[in-house]
Amino acid sequence: MTVLEKNSPPQDTFLIGIGASPGIAIGEAYLLNRARTAAFERAIADEEVTAEIERFREAVRTSRYQLEEVKRRVADRQLAEHLYIIDTHLLILEDEMLIGETSAAIEQERINAEGALKRVLSRFRQVFDSIEDEYLRERRSDIDSVGDRILRNLLGEVQQPMTEIDRQAIVIAHDLSPADTMQIDKERVIGFLTDVGGRTSHTAILGRSLGIPAVVGLETISSLVPAGTPLIIDGTTGTIVLNPSPATFKEYLRRKQAYEYQEKELLGFRDLAAETVDGWRLALRGNVEVAEEISLVLAHGGEGVGLFRTEFMFMNRPAPPSETEQYQVYREIAEKMAPHPVTIRTLDVGGDKFVPEINLADEANPAMGLRGIRFSLKEVRLLKTQLRAILRASVHGQVRIMLPLISGVAEVRACRDYLAQAEQELREAGIAFSAQVKIGVMIETPAAALIADLLAREVDFFSIGTNDLIQYCLAVDRGNEHVAYLYEPLHPAILRALRQTCQAAKQAGIEVSMCGEMAGEPLYTLILVGLGLDELSMNAQSIPRVKRVLRQARREEGEALVAELLRMETAQAINRYLEEEMARRFPALFGTLTI
Ligand code: PEP
Ligand code: MG
Repeated sequence: MTVLEKNSPPQDTFLIGIGASPGIAIGEAYLLNRARTAAFERAIADEEVTAEIERFREAVRTSRYQLEEVKRRVADRQLAEHLYIIDTHLLILEDEMLIGETSAAIEQERINAEGALKRVLSRFRQVFDSIEDEYLRERRSDIDSVGDRILRNLLGEVQQPMTEIDRQAIVIAHDLSPADTMQIDKERVIGFLTDVGGRTSHTAILGRSLGIPAVVGLETISSLVPAGTPLIIDGTTGTIVLNPSPATFKEYLRRKQAYEYQEKELLGFRDLAAETVDGWRLALRGNVEVAEEISLVLAHGGEGVGLFRTEFMFMNRPAPPSETEQYQVYREIAEKMAPHPVTIRTLDVGGDKFVPEINLADEANPAMGLRGIRFSLKEVRLLKTQLRAILRASVHGQVRIMLPLISGVAEVRACRDYLAQAEQELREAGIAFSAQVKIGVMIETPAAALIADLLAREVDFFSIGTNDLIQYCLAVDRGNEHVAYLYEPLHPAILRALRQTCQAAKQAGIEVSMCGEMAGEPLYTLILVGLGLDELSMNAQSIPRVKRVLRQARREEGEALVAELLRMETAQAINRYLEEEMARRFPALFGTLTI
């Protein structure tokens, strides 16, 4: 790398990436060479084939040994529970598609192992890139990470280990594999920055778990910053400052102290009741993607799981998880959370692409295609397996079933029929389950909000998925940066949809929850109280922040605020009014710019 020849960036160079793990770190850049391995394809002779396949298999064995070593050395207790990521990588190393197809390519195409592996990896990437769900799309990085490891071992490249970092620093790398992140020593690595990645990449999840500020998706940071450059990272806003001036340095030091003070204070909310001044109690629960996140939810005072996104379990594997495997995961979560409820959402995928044994055609418009419950109602075998697994877990805690992307009553009734069939099958097999498992629907399509009164008669609870509800109501792709300015949670249409949904739930006497990102934004807490939501489910770190607002709020204040906002005509006016009101009512929380 030509690090030392690079010019130092000008003073106060601000860069924006994706805030992956909140908090502020101030320190020096430590460049970790994680550039993608350059490997070239070349033709081989017939007599080289056997040796080439063996060379490939040897590289796979070495990779396995290295990952086993990482597992053995994981020191941090918080990280120990993320070892499943290394297990996932070990599983990929055993994946017949990857290993078998590479060996086959060596043999059939008569090319070297590096070339064959790269061809197979590129096919995998295409499949992953076409997945619409950000979380699932990012699981591609697991394949990349394993592929890169095998390539390096084929080339005999030795990678600078994370454990070599000998001083306090902010690590900058093109990418950090989960294996790298697991080796982070918090005494030395005070933050990290990467060119690639998103908020839901494993590396980001691990950063949050470790409590180290991180910004990802910075595109070129690893080739822009010379080693030793002083810098500031603000993982909450995704901001980086290179070569900070004394004034900027002082300002961020102040923000860092304020942030750390606030964090300590927030932890004090863990065991306090989530209720308003006038005694209105709300359940604050966690959104989780993997069972290992449960401890984070508990550590932040979450009273249950309001959304378990089960689609993660179906990733990175040649076939969907069996009923028993799913049952074990659901059971573990239910037991760890008991006596609090765990809402398990049935598979919410945007297509079949990562369930390789089913091969459906590509869709021109996947967001409006065979996703969520539509997919499950087509792939009934998968749905019933999942329902049986959830039912079996119901004797180990309080589990609830939630159906994604419902747009009509008929879908709910069809699911209820399959649930009845699943119950009957378990009964016949003499397997225990609870007869009281509640079933609810996500309200995340405009249709569901408009017929909330009809849906309310069919189910035990609603959970409003604002991420999709906003996307579909406002016709704004939630992942498209060109229309991001139109993605307005406080658009009058959204406020009306929320109010109508809550009213329908109240009239029918069922619970109404919210599990979209809006639920975890403290600025909206008073509105959500005013709308009468019974439960808010969010990422674990937001729980104490929302609780803090909640404990200073009054329900009638919230109701008056909602009534006022519903009279306004534009999202901009609503936003402005809300910001001013929140700053006036809670000056200590919203009085200054958020840090
Ligand atoms: C939502 O749409 O708000 C939601 C919670 O579901 P997801 O983000 O998984 O689509
Ligand atoms: Mg959704």
